[in-house]
Amino acid sequence: MRIDGSGTLRASCALCPNPGPMTLDGTNTWMLREPGARAVIVVDPGPDDERHLERVARTVQEQGAQVAVALLSHHHPDHTGGARYFSELTGAPVRALDPELCIGGEALRDGERLRADGLEMQVIATPGHTSDSLSFHVPADSVMLTGDTVLGRGTAVIADDGGLADYMESLYRLRHMVRTAEIRALLPGHGPICTEPLLKVNEYIDHREERLSQVIAAVAAGDRTPDEIIDRVYVGIDPELRPAAESSVRAQVRYLAKRGDVPAGLEEGF
Ligand SMILES: [Zn+2]
Repeated sequence: MRIDGSGTLRASCALCPNPGPMTLDGTNTWMLREPGARAVIVVDPGPDDERHLERVARTVQEQGAQVAVALLSHHHPDHTGGARYFSELTGAPVRALDPELCIGGEALRDGERLRADGLEMQVIATPGHTSDSLSFHVPADSVMLTGDTVLGRGTAVIADDGGLADYMESLYRLRHMVRTAEIRALLPGHGPICTEPLLKVNEYIDHREERLSQVIAAVAAGDRTPDEIIDRVYVGIDPELRPAAESSVRAQVRYLAKRGDVPAGLEEGF
């Protein structure tokens, strides 16, 4: 089975030219097709960039194929901004977890199995980066498309601060699937393919758990306010990043209180 830098037997990537600090090299638009089949499933058409969307539509057409459906990994505009135009170009429906984002198709459900001309994919809810974040499992290629939940480089951002508990659960869910479904590569929404999925997901979990244990230690040492914890955990932090650190610390303390790792009641001041 082929898994290389450009894709897998069934998955190929069109990189959108929208690089940036949040989008890395740009948004990955994934095209999935059973070898020799006529139907293509597209994951994340990308931002509202007509040339990119036209290039994706043309690539599919040149393969003698047709877009059966476009799926959205989550609602951020660098993944969804071009969905309407892409649907107009290809005639394909657009489906996402959030019914508001769907065009001519139904909302996706966790665990749902999608089929298109021999291709099979399963929807895996992985909230945390956003509450509507999805991953997609392609069993025949032993790969998982992870959207912005796990990126090809660096660490993912948790969009709303209530998402930490969800995010940790999603990482543990992905790790469980990597092991039990023998996932051999992650195809992220940004950055390169990751061919060491277990190592990558463990890195993500360790990064979060390390921060959490620093917060536990700060509380144990007597810190009782977000400011005190920031001063201890984020030593020498750039003042501009302080509001972001504060919202992370609040989310971490609330999550730790729920897990029973800091005294109950402490989170009320946060
Ligand atoms: Zn995103």
